[in-house]
Amino acid sequence: MNTAEGWRRVQLKVTVLGKYGPFAKQGQGATSSYLVEDNGTSLLLDMGAGTLSRLASVIDIKKIDGIFLSHLHFDHTSDLLTFRYLLECLEHTLTIYAYYEDSEWYRLLLTHPNFNVVNIDESSQIRLGNLNLRFFLMNHTVEDYAIRIEGSKVFVYTGDTVFTPNIYKAIEGADCLLADCSKPEGFDGPHMTVDKAIEIHKKSGIRILATHMSPDYSPEKDFADYDSIQAVEEMAVYEI
Ligand SMILES: [Zn+2]
Repeated sequence: MNTAEGWRRVQLKVTVLGKYGPFAKQGQGATSSYLVEDNGTSLLLDMGAGTLSRLASVIDIKKIDGIFLSHLHFDHTSDLLTFRYLLECLEHTLTIYAYYEDSEWYRLLLTHPNFNVVNIDESSQIRLGNLNLRFFLMNHTVEDYAIRIEGSKVFVYTGDTVFTPNIYKAIEGADCLLADCSKPEGFDGPHMTVDKAIEIHKKSGIRILATHMSPDYSPEKDFADYDSIQAVEEMAVYEI
């Protein structure tokens, strides 16, 4: 330990467990899930289809401090069902941060003795290990919250959304935005398009990690002129 490198603290990093939505590409991939780790605190963001085995390959499940759900669409939550079996085997309980929804899916998904559910909304402020968590309402077909994670760096994840001015509130002073912004220009649906990502980057200067890829469209060429906008790769680790 005689170099600055040796003493460097491990800062906030994100592992992409699944980048697709609403379903994965043929023969490969998984849907939305991201593991955030920062100086010993670990927070999972969403848990889409095909991500449980990947999660277990990168972290000891008992070291996960909590799970945040941006919204309750299946491509962001479905592996929680099988995850419950694993938690039963481990005799382990996990805290889940999610907004309350009066729906059958909410009850089926989250009413389980191995889940401790904490309901969040825009007024919530949560301290988790060395992280401060805040939440911002986005604009999707169901209620969706962006999470702002303040630790050694400030990192924001949108969940699913079209562009909304609330994104600028969420990213104020932040280092990086992981965003649902990978749809081609002209796309007419409940997700952001690549041109909006470029606009956000130009106005705020923020680094953007683009995710929620369609199985049949990848935005790399749209962002080719921008060093600070990157289409994510699955199982890649991004230091923020
Ligand atoms: Zn969605």
